[in-house]
Amino acid sequence: MTVKAYGAQAADRPLESLDIARRQPGAHDVQIDIAYCGVCHSDLHQVRSEWAGTLYPCVPGHEIVGRVSAVGAHVSGFKEGDLVGVGCIVDSCQHCSECEAGLENYCDNMVGTYNGPTQDPPGHTLGGYSQQIVVHERYVLRIRHPEADLAAVAPLLCAGITTYSPLRHWKVGPGHKVGVVGIGGLGHMGIKLAHAMGAHVVAFTTSESKRTDALALGADEVVVSRNPDEMAAHAKSLDFILNTVAAPHDLDAFFTLLKRDGTMTLVGAPATPHPSPEVFNLIMKRRSLAGSLIGGIPETQEMLDFCAEHGVVADIEMIRADQINDAYERMLKGDVKYRFVIDSASLAA
Ligand code: NAP
Ligand code: ZN
Repeated sequence: MTVKAYGAQAADRPLESLDIARRQPGAHDVQIDIAYCGVCHSDLHQVRSEWAGTLYPCVPGHEIVGRVSAVGAHVSGFKEGDLVGVGCIVDSCQHCSECEAGLENYCDNMVGTYNGPTQDPPGHTLGGYSQQIVVHERYVLRIRHPEADLAAVAPLLCAGITTYSPLRHWKVGPGHKVGVVGIGGLGHMGIKLAHAMGAHVVAFTTSESKRTDALALGADEVVVSRNPDEMAAHAKSLDFILNTVAAPHDLDAFFTLLKRDGTMTLVGAPATPHPSPEVFNLIMKRRSLAGSLIGGIPETQEMLDFCAEHGVVADIEMIRADQINDAYERMLKGDVKYRFVIDSASLAA
């Protein structure tokens, strides 16, 4: 079947309207009419080939929500009409130790929702900036939020799970002082989730204009990281830092804020490396530097259910598909509060 999509034909070309093919649902497939798709900074990195290896045409989008419009003969978990989501993963080997542990995100053969290998035309996966997607039921998530929240649920499928997973892995909760660095799509979810988990949250931003917003998002304190006095006030006091910044920056400024045995986990994935940290800032207080990649399918469902229970959704600005190139430029300037979401109905125009 041919559907409308938005994507780029080359790294230096803007995104434009495209016709793409979707497979007929196989026995274990769920066909989803996409209602909304969030716009992740990874979409921008990838469509411009900033991480190298992008295949074209590239149709980004891995924060997908919509309604099931058909299911294959052997699908047991979903039926036509169900509200569902698809995140960053549409396939994996299904039998390695990572897949068996529900950590498909760490499977060596994980297939991303776009730019991953597939037998479907054109030979690589095409993402959620499109009217429809067909996905194996193992990688489809159930949405339990009220339908009115659907557009604001979309960003949970990447920004939500990418921040939820490390907060859970490092056991963030009451009694912890947690820093969230960068208040963008991921960072604003990190603040909301760490707050919902009961932590004392300190938001770090380069943008003075986000100071008041950060408190409304659930931060207990806000630090403008360009201000050395504000930074120094938190020296050696944080248990955990979640760093979501999309550009290279001085990590030492944040290590020195960790307590003994504190960890800073990087989820931001800049196209060029951070300056190497000063090793004494790690060894003197037995601090750790870590990384984390999205989350597995069971944990993504757990995150969606946690968010439904706690009334957590993203703060969004809805756009039409033909506004995506401007939206990318605004995202690069940090001018988004706090996630663009494409209204898929605009693709038909
Ligand atoms: P975003 O909405 O653009 O937010 C990034 C934030 O980082 C900005 O809002 C800004 O916050 C801060 N920032 C940007 N440039 C900066 C600079 N030069 N110096 C200091 N701070 C800067 O992006 P996002 O969608 O949240 O994604 C963030 C990063 O995570 C991207 O690199 C993305 O590819 C990556 N990512 C990783 C995973 C994973 O699994 N690990 C998953 C999804 C995304 P302030 O204005 O508050 O300073
Ligand atoms: Zn993403």
